[in-house]
Amino acid sequence: MSSSSPLLEKLVSELSKLPGIGRKSAMRLSFYFLKQSKSEVEELARTLIEVKEKVRECEICFNFTESSPCSICLSKRRNRSIICVVEEPTDLMAIERSGEYKGLYHVIGGVISPLDGISPEDLHIKELFERLDSVEEVIIATNPSIEGETTTLYLQREMKQRNIKVSRIARGIPMGSALEHADQVTLVRAFEGRVEL
Ligand SMILES: [Zn+2]
Repeated sequence: MSSSSPLLEKLVSELSKLPGIGRKSAMRLSFYFLKQSKSEVEELARTLIEVKEKVRECEICFNFTESSPCSICLSKRRNRSIICVVEEPTDLMAIERSGEYKGLYHVIGGVISPLDGISPEDLHIKELFERLDSVEEVIIATNPSIEGETTTLYLQREMKQRNIKVSRIARGIPMGSALEHADQVTLVRAFEGRVEL
């Protein structure tokens, strides 16, 4: 890009910092904004600031919400005896979009990763243990990765000690020993399609 507009250069450099956005995409987005009307750009800018001001974590499940507890945690229509554990709010949103799952959620905020120095204490796992009173089953829906597997094994052990049934979703790829839970079949069917979104 020419240096004829330092402002445009700044926008490109800011957009390049976004996840999944390289310099080329950042330029494309910048030109797109330039072509948009002022009111369209203002709407986007306002939404960004408003999201930053109003959206926070639910005090129970750590989903993003504008009022805590979130609407899922407060809903009378959800099955309160099942909690689905996900890494991030984006995972929760993907599962919600499918409309199949009717239980509650718990966002742990990442995965256990000893190499990166992330231990269970760094995640919202303690808070999960604190809300298991009337819970019969925990469904683990971590992503298929070594860290996801480590996290699953850890949660599996902890849940077993608490006599809570544990299952995990399948994603159409071999997931090893965690698939051995017999009661998982229903859940696999329920989740399979959506997880690949
Ligand atoms: Zn919540």
